[in-house]
Amino acid sequence: MAIEQFNLVLKSAKMLTPNTRHMIFVREDGKKLDYLPGQFITFTFDGSDGKPKRRSYSISSLHGQTDEIEIAISYIKGGVASEALFAMQPGQKFPAMGPAGRLVLQEEPISRYILIATGTGVAPYRCMLPNIAEKLNNPNFSIELFLGVRLKEDLLYGEDFVEFAKTHPNFKFHAYYSREQSALEPYEHKGYVQHAFDQLNLKPGSDVIYLCGNPNMIDEAFQKLVAMGFATKDIRREKYISSN
Ligand SMILES: Cc1cc2nc3c(=O)[nH]c(=O)nc-3n(C[C@H](O)[C@H](O)[C@H](O)COP(=O)(O)OP(=O)(O)OC[C@H]3O[C@@H](n4cnc5c(N)ncnc54)[C@H](O)[C@@H]3O)c2cc1C
Repeated sequence: MAIEQFNLVLKSAKMLTPNTRHMIFVREDGKKLDYLPGQFITFTFDGSDGKPKRRSYSISSLHGQTDEIEIAISYIKGGVASEALFAMQPGQKFPAMGPAGRLVLQEEPISRYILIATGTGVAPYRCMLPNIAEKLNNPNFSIELFLGVRLKEDLLYGEDFVEFAKTHPNFKFHAYYSREQSALEPYEHKGYVQHAFDQLNLKPGSDVIYLCGNPNMIDEAFQKLVAMGFATKDIRREKYISSN
């Protein structure tokens, strides 16, 4: 799939959590973006040092159900992209390019996908939901999704996953809160998401793990999984870091 360059015009935006903005874009040229669920787009901003800054965002749109490009961005005070995208109003545009990225589901003879994210790292998994629904038609296949955030109020797209789990018995959703103190629903847990591994009965060779979001979480989880016997090809990672 070739990487294209285009302007993205903001159609609408809303706060998903106290710190996360859900933004819906359309291409200025009216064309549809051809991408795989799990891929990302990259915006270009003017840096204060006069050099262009590139910032990538996973597409969170429900793949195949809309031509609009949705993203979820968490605010970092003083961040080049954060300040520009949080100030952006409907009708305004930024240059962008895409799609890119290899955090995509594959056709492979395995029995379970474990999808792990922190914060906005869950965006690609939301995009995959229609694709996941198709895969779950196989009764011998299951998917478990783990999302780690600080508090309940930070659980972006949580309702989408809870609802999806209700209609897909071989899909399980688990929320992990590092700082929540209030009562929890059955799908909610206290602690860091990477610590869930110990209760999962992971099976190297038949499970494949996806990790997306905070680089520290990904590094810690990766080391743990390799020590458990996972081949590196069965641990697929996307670290959310700024490129320059
Ligand atoms: C493939 C890919 C996909 C991505 N998808 C998403 C996405 O869907 N949603 C999303 O919100 N982000 C995503 N990111 C991260 C995003 O590209 C930016 O790195 C992020 O938004 C910060 O950019 P910024 O310009 O606002 O801040 P920057 O100008 O990069 O950083 C400002 C300051 O904050 C520090 N900083 C940077 N990140 C953090 C952090 N997480 N916590 C605390 N301090 C920090 C920096 O060290 C710097 O000092 C993705 C990154 C990659 C590589």
